[in-house]
Amino acid sequence: MEYNLYINGKSVPCHSHMDIFNPATGELLGKCPVAGREQLDAAVSAAAEAFKSWSQTSDEVRKAACHGMGKILEDHAEELAKLVTEEQGKPLNGLGSRFELGGCQAWTHYTADLELPVKVVQDNEEGYVELHRKPVGVVGSITPWNWPLMIAIWHVVPAIRSGNTVVIKPSPYTPLGTLRMVELMAASLPPGVLNVISGRDDLGQMMSEHPGIQKIVFTGSCATGGKIMASAAPTLKRLTLELGGNDAGIVLPDVDPQAIAEGLFWGAFINGGQTCAALKRLYVHEDIYEDVCAALTGYAANLPMGNGLDENTALGPVQNEMQYNKVRDLVSDAVANGARVLLGADPKEGPGYFYPATLLADVSNGMRIVDEEQFGPALPIIKFSSLDEAIEMANASENGLGGSVWSADVDRAKEIALRMECGSVWINKHGMIQPNVPFGGVKKSGIGVEFGEEGLKEYTTIQAVYS
Ligand code: NAD
Repeated sequence: MEYNLYINGKSVPCHSHMDIFNPATGELLGKCPVAGREQLDAAVSAAAEAFKSWSQTSDEVRKAACHGMGKILEDHAEELAKLVTEEQGKPLNGLGSRFELGGCQAWTHYTADLELPVKVVQDNEEGYVELHRKPVGVVGSITPWNWPLMIAIWHVVPAIRSGNTVVIKPSPYTPLGTLRMVELMAASLPPGVLNVISGRDDLGQMMSEHPGIQKIVFTGSCATGGKIMASAAPTLKRLTLELGGNDAGIVLPDVDPQAIAEGLFWGAFINGGQTCAALKRLYVHEDIYEDVCAALTGYAANLPMGNGLDENTALGPVQNEMQYNKVRDLVSDAVANGARVLLGADPKEGPGYFYPATLLADVSNGMRIVDEEQFGPALPIIKFSSLDEAIEMANASENGLGGSVWSADVDRAKEIALRMECGSVWINKHGMIQPNVPFGGVKKSGIGVEFGEEGLKEYTTIQAVYS
């Protein structure tokens, strides 16, 4: 099936296409438009024209429009979930594509009801000063391939809610779900408020450079985030960058390994580990190290891996060949350097990029699988003897997205949480983000936050009015 762009309230065919394959079967799934400068200019012009009136609409109109998009997501949830599974690989069930569509709806409705009221900062005999939050203009959204629809929603809905207009470009690995979702949602909005263009990576660079775009919201790798900062600099665009993570979990000796095994496993293996704030390095106290390794292995050993369309599948394929090769190479490197394989590390021949859930013991900082973001179904488990040592190893990373502490003593765990260098820390769970809590990275994991009032503010500028 050939997909179209959606620009200025119309479905727009494209003369050039690329093939999109199902990562579970290798079969052709659809043909994605490859847009260039001409289509980008058309989308930006439409968004700029629409901004003139959309930015002047009332709060009530925008709120209703966002709830309207939420309703469309509800009505098409099953169709979109199936497309996400076929294109991205994650299972329909568990923390898979139906969960992703549920998240899309929850975030849309929650964000619709957020408000940024006028704030009076001075009201005395010397004067009266109000702060108004005004939309930025045309927002360019660039998204990755791991949670393609959820992340698109995280960008699009707050932008529109606060009076901006949007041009979104999905990842070339997973464009089809976004093309379809945006076509459905944009048809409920005035023409030009929401536009989608797809293409290769160079289209993202063109967006970052485009003088008609006032802000880029980007979710993806640290390397690309740096490139976007550089190409956005000459036009001084506003940026929100949600980048890579290498989240550490610290397990104290007072836990029951059996009781935490399921939470640890899904903290790491949600979406086959292809999640920004997944648990990517697990530090376990020496007293319970072998017990935690055994509990995790026991939990993971019999989880069914396969095509996500099968209702029983718990683990799907890696999304693409590049990522599959990266995970395989990092595991091989760890094994060559003395890692003990507790589970997995033995991928079968295709079709499909199926890499088994892999648990590695006897690993340490300094090994590539610990120091680099694996972004796939392999978890290194590192032994520590003192808490200071564990915190130092956890913080020895350029990234600072999430982290977790696992302990029966929540107060003690909170003290440790505050010593971890990351934007979010969970106690006895990992990666449970919420639409009302700001989420973002420190160090190289990003600039700015998404979600909640703080996230919404990133789509606005302040105007101070003195009277
Ligand atoms: P990626 O950086 O390769 O690609 C992301 C997007 O950027 C794609 O749409 C791509 O076409 C575009 N792009 C590529 N080169 C570009 C350029 N020079 N200029 C502008 N755009 C360009 O990332 P990915 O592999 O799709 O995603 C995986 C990464 O994303 C992981 O590192 C993961 O941790 C991170 N991530 C972070 C979050 C978060 O919220 N912090 C969420 C999800 C994923």
